[in-house]
Amino acid sequence: MGGTPLPDGIKLMDEQGRRIDGRLPGELRPLKIEAGVLRRADGSAYLEMGHNKVMAAVYGPRECHPRHMQDPTRALVQCHYNMASFSVDDRKRPGPDRRSQEISKIISEALTHVVFTEYFPRTSIDVYIEVLQANAGTRCAGLTAASVALADAGIPMRDLVASCAAGKVANTMVLDLGKEEDNFGQADIPLGYIPRTEEVVLLQMDGDLTADEFRTGLGMAADACKKIYDVQRDALRRRYVVADDGGSEGVK
Ligand code: UDP
Repeated sequence: MGGTPLPDGIKLMDEQGRRIDGRLPGELRPLKIEAGVLRRADGSAYLEMGHNKVMAAVYGPRECHPRHMQDPTRALVQCHYNMASFSVDDRKRPGPDRRSQEISKIISEALTHVVFTEYFPRTSIDVYIEVLQANAGTRCAGLTAASVALADAGIPMRDLVASCAAGKVANTMVLDLGKEEDNFGQADIPLGYIPRTEEVVLLQMDGDLTADEFRTGLGMAADACKKIYDVQRDALRRRYVVADDGGSEGVK
């Protein structure tokens, strides 16, 4: 990020305005979501967005431990984001680091905005996000999957959160940056958004943008979140259609 020089021979955008993976600037990577994929979890979702592969599992509401963390007025939504050591080209050192702590915190905060936490005082709602394969945009992929997993767990929510990033690559505003674009691009703005109410629940920015570019990027990411929201709802709908039919492989 921040306009790191590209290795020789690599171009982030060609003369026709196609990106390094062939997408147009406003195009998302292919997105697939499946709800209810883990038998032991209270709710779960598996998501693929381009080469990102993410599993989200929800446990709770359950008694919060250690007890001194309990809030007598509401549930704590506690996200645990983890990137598997085999999820990236260079082996990632296992265990928590500053990046995973930051991502866990911002996703916990985003989800707290949509869960009716006041219904479950003194409890914890634990959301595990495991990144199995990473190709940039994993915080957005994780938040999108976690939101479906919470709904799959039957946890009362105001709405689903959809998430996607916009950014600047080769002086062009683009949607949903891939790995090379994230590494060698000029800016990245991950957004967590509630399309129905148009509320922003996660917003970060890495790199430099003018105010106009920032507004353009935010608009692109918000529009993309509306499409992602439809895929999330469709995953939940499919989950319950299958369950009504008497269940099938892969459904709890
Ligand atoms: N990445 C990596 N090793 C790490 C952390 C990140 O290879 O220890 C890669 C991974 O593909 C990730 C990308 O860099 O998706 C961008 O990471 P960033 O911190 O920007 O978060 P993300 O875009 O995944 O939300």
